[in-house]
Amino acid sequence: MACDNQEKNLSICNCSYEPCSRKGRCCECIVYHRRNGELPACYFTDTQERSYNRSISYFVKCNS
Ligand code: SF4
Repeated sequence: MACDNQEKNLSICNCSYEPCSRKGRCCECIVYHRRNGELPACYFTDTQERSYNRSISYFVKCNS
């Protein structure tokens, strides 16, 4: 199913994990990471995001 907002979302997406099929599909992205106890890339800086550590504990560590 096409996402009407995908191009707009991609323009502000900082995720560098290119193979991901959820890029620009923010609703799918957040459901995927929430299910895994994680946060999407956009919660992290570009440098932090490239670690691919999306855990909540890493987010807390980065922001403490
Ligand atoms: S944050 Fe995760 S689900 Fe979202 S586009 Fe990046 S790798 Fe895919």
